[in-house]
Amino acid sequence: MSYDQNNIFARILRHELPCINVYEDADTLAFMDIMPQAEGHALVITKEPAATLMEITPKGAAAVIRSTQIVARAVQTALGSQGIMIFQLNGSAAGQTVPHLHFHIIPRSGGDMLLKHAAEKADEKQLEALAIRIRNALADG
Ligand code: 5GP
Repeated sequence: MSYDQNNIFARILRHELPCINVYEDADTLAFMDIMPQAEGHALVITKEPAATLMEITPKGAAAVIRSTQIVARAVQTALGSQGIMIFQLNGSAAGQTVPHLHFHIIPRSGGDMLLKHAAEKADEKQLEALAIRIRNALADG
């Protein structure tokens, strides 16, 4: 799959579009999903230009998994969720809507409802408040 330099996440990485950031290191960036499937839904993206998991270098793959683990721990602490769902889609046939490699981090607790994928924008102030809780959890280690 060829890489589209103008996909939304590439534009976020170039600071052409905003995001509600929760974590960043040399190889990855994590931010709130604007159409969350549950409260606290965050995304971890690689800085390497790769559309899917099959195209990333081993170094990039290791970095994005490491960051997913770090952010998932913080999301679980911040939201107090019983579990964390992590998923990653490859190709539009698999349901991928943004062609830049990313992992979804979604807090889950028994009996909760999962909203539709990439369907409805959340209130920005609520997303910002959740991001503050996640950043605080990251800072507390
Ligand atoms: P995919 O379908 O590619 O696995 O997931 C893409 C995710 O990106 C979806 O969950 C969707 O809600 C989210 N998304 C789409 N556009 C934007 C955006 O402009 N900003 C943010 N933060 N998330 C986005």
